[in-house]
Amino acid sequence: MKDYSIDDIKRIVRPNLGEEVPLLLFRILRIIGMRSILGESSGATLYMMGKRVGNMLPARTMEEFSDMIRELKVGIPEAQLIDEDHVTVKLYECITCAGFPNTGEMFCDMESGIIAGLLENVCGKKARSTQTKSWSAGFSYCEFEVFLY
Ligand SMILES: [Zn+2]
Repeated sequence: MKDYSIDDIKRIVRPNLGEEVPLLLFRILRIIGMRSILGESSGATLYMMGKRVGNMLPARTMEEFSDMIRELKVGIPEAQLIDEDHVTVKLYECITCAGFPNTGEMFCDMESGIIAGLLENVCGKKARSTQTKSWSAGFSYCEFEVFLY
């Protein structure tokens, strides 16, 4: 199986429909499709997928980290450096959960992975991100605790 790069896939020829897709389609694929097919392992798989995406994207500074997440419309990030190995990232308008009912479950694993992957590029260290807040757990933003090691 061939590994495709961002360069391989970025050429889009859709003169009538353009480059945008409805967010509802993304959420059907992401929350209903992937979760029901991958089942219990969906969290770990989506996290690994997100991390790979994050690692493929260019970001060398915290500003580029924020710009990239915003440009891809994953959400509006607000990063706070707790200490040199610990960053807290609030994510407003999260692509997956913003507006979601409070079900008590948190499932923004792909976003968590994207944040970890991008921060690895920025910091030149390994990163592990854990989601601690979500719309689906009663908050109006997502929050991720990221540890660098
Ligand atoms: Zn979220």
